[in-house]
Amino acid sequence: MHCPFCSNSETKVNDSRLVSEGDQVRRRRECLKCGERFTTFESAELVLPRVIKNNGIRQPFDEDKLRNGLQRALEKRPVSVEEIDSILNRITHQLRATGEREVKTRAVGELVMQALRDLDEVAYVRFASVYRSFQDVNEFREEIDKMGKKRGKSKKN
Ligand SMILES: [Zn+2]
Repeated sequence: MHCPFCSNSETKVNDSRLVSEGDQVRRRRECLKCGERFTTFESAELVLPRVIKNNGIRQPFDEDKLRNGLQRALEKRPVSVEEIDSILNRITHQLRATGEREVKTRAVGELVMQALRDLDEVAYVRFASVYRSFQDVNEFREEIDKMGKKRGKSKKN
């Protein structure tokens, strides 16, 4: 943290306390060069990153859109609303945890696919075929093969 008065990079913290019900830390700092005192407020950044679409356009993360996508993939599948909510929570948590301000649509899609792969294979394939818009049939088949191998492995164990 640079001193706002002289830009010196060395400051010391004289006092540190939680504010806003613990969501923020208020620090009283003192510049080691010019001796000026100033206050900083720190809080965890929990905003969701913006999403960069394939055409480069940035959009705010849209949780409803994601929910709709999941519901469409899980239509008539034996998956409860609670499970859909839990996937949504997991994905938004993962996105926040990246600490990134922007993520590619594709990265969001990969998170969704990971989550669906564990939950319901049919939904996974539905979602993957739409979201990833597989380049050709072979790519799609590879993906299905990978799933088959994984399943085979877990059966043996
Ligand atoms: Zn200073």
